[in-house]
Amino acid sequence: ILHFLPARSVLVLKLISVAIDGPVGAGKSTIARTAAERLNYIYCDTGALYRAVGLYCHRNGVDMNDPSAIAGNINADIRLVDGVQRIFLNGEDVSDEIRLPEISMAASAVSAVPAVRSALLGLQREIAEKNSVIMDGRDIGTVVLPNADVKIFLTAKPEIRAKRRYGELIAKGKDVTFEEVLNDLNQRDYNDSHRAAAPLRQAADAVLADTSELDFGQSVDLVCGLIKERL
Ligand code: C5P
Repeated sequence: ILHFLPARSVLVLKLISVAIDGPVGAGKSTIARTAAERLNYIYCDTGALYRAVGLYCHRNGVDMNDPSAIAGNINADIRLVDGVQRIFLNGEDVSDEIRLPEISMAASAVSAVPAVRSALLGLQREIAEKNSVIMDGRDIGTVVLPNADVKIFLTAKPEIRAKRRYGELIAKGKDVTFEEVLNDLNQRDYNDSHRAAAPLRQAADAVLADTSELDFGQSVDLVCGLIKERL
């Protein structure tokens, strides 16, 4: 094709960025990962970065509300290994350990610290500058990628989100009750939407997608449909 272009033509490939935000357990990561595979974009789970910082504090007994104790000691990094996102904490692959339930609450606590948020901002933007990406989190459409091509706020009723999360944890052999999962989810959503720094909220130009009545396949279809419609 290039051969037939006039000599001075420049082929510009525009990178696409899709921001998906929403509360705990809305299915953001599984839906976004599958949609990214289908559309041939990179998938970036930004919650994993906050989880890596939370893991560091949890392991080292660091006061999660003291920015000076956190800043400077932590190098959280996202790398693609065989096309799959892995998270590194000071060079160590912690992709599995960050998924432990106790690390969820630690991530929520450290994510309220402005110094932590600003330290992770550049890395997230750099990924979107270099790749067509579907990035999920809490503040992607509002703060990280305010000019994203497509913004989706993905949600579902709290009981439904808790039921899904509970099912996942039980399938992994975790010893939890439904009430514990629901309380954890409500507490994290409250923390995330009431913090001063980059709170969880729907961007003014984001489209709301409620998956309460949808199964996984229908949710992926909905998200892919919204992306295609808006591009
Ligand atoms: O998405 P996930 O549940 O893995 O995120 C863990 C925690 O990280 C969230 O509860 C939230 O406090 C924080 N987070 C955030 N901003 C993002 C992504 C996650 O504050 N963009």
